[in-house]
Amino acid sequence: MSTSYDEVMQSLGLEPSRPKRGRPAGSTNVGVQPCGTYPAYMRHKQAREDACEPCLEAKRQYYRAWYAKNRDRIRASRRVGGGRA
Ligand SMILES: [Zn+2]
Repeated sequence: MSTSYDEVMQSLGLEPSRPKRGRPAGSTNVGVQPCGTYPAYMRHKQAREDACEPCLEAKRQYYRAWYAKNRDRIRASRRVGGGRA
């Protein structure tokens, strides 16, 4: 067996099969998020630069939303031994 699958495909006039890299919805797809979003804020941080005001605001809202979502769990974990209502 000396004929590879790709050679057969090429002899038929087709492109050799290549493993396609990169997923369409991957985290490597940075650079698309405009300022004023949390990913953009992270981009500032990764670039070791000060985040601009819209990005800082986006970060605040991101953490606020995260806290609101996990508030019950955070309170529950803090209430260990507390007992005051
Ligand atoms: Zn920014």
